[in-house]
This record gives sequence, C-alpha cells and structure tokens, in this order.
Amino acid sequence: MNDLMEKIVSLAKRRGFVYPGSEIYGGLAGIYDFGPRGVELLNNLKHAWWNANVYQKENFYGLDAGMFKNPRTWEASGHVNGFSDPLAECKQCNTRIRVDKELEAVGVTADEKMSEEEINALFDAHREEIACPKCGAHDFTPARKFNLLVKSNLGDFTSEESEPVYLPGEACQGIYLDYKNVVDSMHPKIPFGIAQIGKAFRNEISPRNFLFRTREMEQADTQLFIRPNENKEAYERIKQERMDWYLSLGIHPENLRFKQHENLVFYAKDAWDIEYKYPWGFDELEGIHDRSDYDLTQHMKFSGVDLSYADPETGEKYVPWILETSVGMGRIFLAVLTDAYSEDELGGETRVVLKLHPKLAPVKAMVSPLLKNKPELVAKAREVYAALKKDIPQIAWDDNGNIGKRYRRQDEIGTPFCITIDFDTLGETADLKDTVTLRDRDTGQQERVAVSELSGRIRAAL
Ligand code: ATP
Repeated sequence: MNDLMEKIVSLAKRRGFVYPGSEIYGGLAGIYDFGPRGVELLNNLKHAWWNANVYQKENFYGLDAGMFKNPRTWEASGHVNGFSDPLAECKQCNTRIRVDKELEAVGVTADEKMSEEEINALFDAHREEIACPKCGAHDFTPARKFNLLVKSNLGDFTSEESEPVYLPGEACQGIYLDYKNVVDSMHPKIPFGIAQIGKAFRNEISPRNFLFRTREMEQADTQLFIRPNENKEAYERIKQERMDWYLSLGIHPENLRFKQHENLVFYAKDAWDIEYKYPWGFDELEGIHDRSDYDLTQHMKFSGVDLSYADPETGEKYVPWILETSVGMGRIFLAVLTDAYSEDELGGETRVVLKLHPKLAPVKAMVSPLLKNKPELVAKAREVYAALKKDIPQIAWDDNGNIGKRYRRQDEIGTPFCITIDFDTLGETADLKDTVTLRDRDTGQQERVAVSELSGRIRAAL
C-alpha cells in the first residue's frame, strides 16, 4: 500500500468510517464494516444515487429483490459454469494470485473467454515478470479456473448432495427476475428502467486495495429496457449521465476517465468503464454495458416464461434490449474519500481535511459552546443544537477539548460547518444577541450569522 492509501485507511478507522470486519477474531479477508461516520457517508451516497436514478427520472422504477434466488437463475445467467477467475498459488508461500490481474499489471490482456490452456500459455510466457506479492518468488502452480459464486445451504435440512443455493454473484439478476412483475404491475412504456441497490458476494481470490475488491459488496445497478437496435444514442446518453453524476459529487474531473473494453463477450454490443484514479492509479469504478437481449432471452429459455414486451399501442411484441450501469458502493466510497483527502496549512498549522461535498458529509454541522464550564453557554448551545437537528438530522454536538481541537476533528471527517455559541450570542454585545459564529471548513473563515438563518445557510450548501 502506498502512503496515501495508508493515510486513508488509517483515518477511516480512527474516525469511525470503516473498520476491518471481525477484527477481534483476527479479521476475515475481504470484509469491512462501516462505522458511525461511514454509514452516514454511505447512506448519503446511496441517496444521491437513488435521487439521480429514480426520483429525477420519470421512467425508472426502484426495486429491492430478495438475495436468495432459485438456483436456475445462476445457470441461466452463466454464473454456475462461467463465473470464474484464473487462480494460481505461489509454491513457496501458498499466496494466491489472480493471474488475469497480474498479467494486466504487466501490460498483457487475458480475455475472460480464454480456456485454462490459453491462460497458462500467456502466464508461462510472462512468468519472469510476475512475482509473488508476498515473498517475491516467481514459482507458481499452473492457473486453474476458480468459480466465484458463494454457496449456501438455505432450506437444505436433509441430504448432503442436494443442490446448493447461491448468494448473489451480482445484484442485477434480481432486476431480470422481476422485470415481468414490474411490467405487469406498473405498466411502463418502453424505454423504461429498473434501479436497485443490492448486496452481492464473490469468492474473490485476492481481495485487496481496501474497499476496492471485497468479498461482500453492495452494487448499484440500472437496467434500461429499450427497443431492439435502438441502443446507440441511449448508450451515449447514459455514459454521459453517469460521468456527470460523479462530477456532481464534487469528484475532480482529472481523476475520472472513460475506458472502452477491448474484448467483448459474444452478446455484448459495447462496454465501457468509468475509471477513477485511485491511490494506485486509474482503475474500474463503474461498468456501462450494452447487453442486447441476452439476459431476458436466457431467463426465457431456462424458465419457460414469455418475457417479451407487448407494445400497448402498436401491439408489436419483442424481447427488449438492455443497457446496464453497475457500480460497487464501496468503490464510490473509496473514490470519494481519496478525492476529498487533503493536507493543507491553516493558521500556520498543517491539518488533514476531507473536502467532501456538503451533501455527502456525514455531519453537516457541529454545534458547540465556546466554553464547556459555563452553564448559560451550554444551555443556549443545546437549544440551537436541538432545533437545528429537527430540521437537518446530520448535526453533531462536540464540547470536548478546546475549540481549535474540535475544529480539527471536524475537518478530518469533512464537516462543512462549525457553529459556536459564545457570550455575544447571549447578548453581551447587544446587537450580536442571537447570532453565532459559523466557520467554513475549507477556508477556516468565521462569520457572524443569526441563529434563525443557520438552517437556510446549511441547506443552501447541501
Ligand atoms: P473486476 O474485473 O474488477 O473483477 P468486474 O468487471 O467483474 O470487476 P462487474 O461484474 O462488471 O465487475 O461488476 C460491476 C461493478 O461492481 C464493478 O464495476 C465494480 O464497481 C463493482 N465490483 C465488482 N466486483 C467488486 C468487488 N469484489 N468489490 C467491490 N466492488 C466490486
């Protein structure tokens, strides 16, 4: 891990954003927990995503499908047979590597469709360039394909041989399975979309890079159902909309870029990623896929249920094509943290500050009395705090340590405003009665604002 990554991981833990999962038992690889600040940031991100993809669109419907699905689902989707990554093991220290990613790191593309033999031929040709990330040896077993689906035994009370059910390998299958229910209950007209944020699980061979590659994740997906062959224009529009959404979160434009896939699966018409410049370099943030009628056709074949769409006006019947956007919430979370992390100088001191967009900040404003041991200041501050919290829930109280320390702590978690109640608020200077100081996170500037205007000022920034 490089320096910036270490700082982000450490701040995330120290300030209650992200903890390693099951830490008291020594952890569990690829699993993380979101702490009190993290869950607020995560919820703010989900809300921003839902707002853009459901509320701001007239023709998009939200969904929350059950995680467990009939096992046929994963046969139809191709996951039972095809959802695998090439795994090799270091013969010296038993560390497992994902061969396609190691090849990618030395500039070689291993196509998902390649057989084990083909991957091993590439692997052999580049063996000297690929070192074990743990011990540095170049001594690996041959690559074999390892299925990523996570099995469970839901409802299996009797036999050991009975068929497993799977945790979702990708959340979007829930959308395909409920496509017909949405059509029959909501009567949408094509083009229309279904949006969902759902959990997915993958037996990732080498979970790494903090929240970037985890074994349990949350995916935010949209599937736009369109008429056959009407994909081109809509696809370009979606790509732009998704890029604009990241910009609306305040992410620096120079840290985002598009990348087209070189190798397409047989049914795909086109595929692009939005990449973010993580601490280790540009890497996939979101996938945008032009999937033709593959998904619905597969589920028609395996379920025997007609999933074609009948145009209510023309009576025309067809299987819709699908344009998909899919992103892991953890990857957005990490991109946003990386982008916001800054160290600067304020009042002659270096400070760490998360320059989060106010709408994403876990705390919108911190309220505190100038001095903790003056009951009249505390009472007034409590009154301001309680009133503000009713209007804007993500408000914090802090009366620990001196005021400078409180500001620094809030800077570190990205709180855009700090509100301080002092003797002027109580009327010591008559014309300042019922005003407070409002401090801006990015500039450190303070101004005098009437208590009655606080809520409006904070809302404007959100
Ligand atoms: P990769 O090649 O990195 O394994 P992928 O191309 O298989 O990923 P998709 O199956 O297209 O990924 O998943 C859609 C999105 O879900 C990705 O763009 C990413 O944001 C997110 N995602 C996929 N795998 C993980 C993971 N292990 N941890 C966190 N997010 C993930």
